Amino acid sequence: MSLLDVRDLAVSYNGRRAVEGISFTVEPGETVAVVGESGSGKSTTAHAIIGLLPGNATVDQGQILLGDTDLATWSSRRMESVRGVRIGLVPQDPANSLDPVKTIGAQVGEVLRIHRRGDRRTIARRVVDLLTRVGLPEAEALARRYPHELSGGMRQRVLIAIAIALEPSLIIADEPTSALDVTVQRRILDLIDDLRTEFGTAVLLVTHDLGVAADRSDRLVVMKDGRIEEQGPSAAVLADP
Ligand code: ADP
Ligand code: ADP
Repeated sequence: MSLLDVRDLAVSYNGRRAVEGISFTVEPGETVAVVGESGSGKSTTAHAIIGLLPGNATVDQGQILLGDTDLATWSSRRMESVRGVRIGLVPQDPANSLDPVKTIGAQVGEVLRIHRRGDRRTIARRVVDLLTRVGLPEAEALARRYPHELSGGMRQRVLIAIAIALEPSLIIADEPTSALDVTVQRRILDLIDDLRTEFGTAVLLVTHDLGVAADRSDRLVVMKDGRIEEQGPSAAVLADP
């Protein structure tokens, strides 16, 4: 069984179609890149899967199968039990995705606390483990710092730590590096690759950058105007004129 099986999904905003009957799968441990120009429907697809569509959006048809659960029928409220637990989200903008008045440690620990993953000491230890795992130096001291004291690349690593905290089987990375310069971008993509190799976490990588997509994915899903223009093994899609 596929880890994620999106079947004939259609999504509208205010009755206007943004995604028109798309189908693709993500297998355990693989990286699938959803690539396409701005406005092609990538974020809408990602947000539908993770249950974060805005209020003016409706899922008109289709299924989003995660194992044998159809997430397309789930309310956004019910999706809270899936988000972070079975699917981790690495958001787009590291500047605006962290709470400026909470320490890094509090924010990484919060997800563990909400899901009751141990007492204070266990969680504090796990926070340090996670920060170390995503390549942040001096994790113990860093846990006491605030987002503005970190660089953009470091904040992106914190967001990845939050995304993997509950050990999801799928990570959705929505333009995870668009706000970062090229060297930092490469390191973040390397980190996501490492997590996949180490833990077998599948990755759905959403990007407008075909170079990044081609480089980092096993399979490509190419979107255009809300439809899938082409999909298949990355090498084959790229070789196709
Ligand atoms: P991409 O991620 O590929 O840039 P989006 O999924 O954001 O594409 O957008 C697909 C289409 O849906 C576009 O026409 C866009 O204008 C529209 N759209 C996206 N978000 C909203 C929204 N919140 N309200 C209305 N229309 C939206
Ligand atoms: P062990 O069974 O030796 O603890 P694992 O390889 O299962 O080792 O995990 C090593 C560490 O990584 C543990 O802290 C574990 O909680 C964490 N971990 C395991 N799987 C994932 C995952 N998919 N994403 C993030 N962290 C994970």
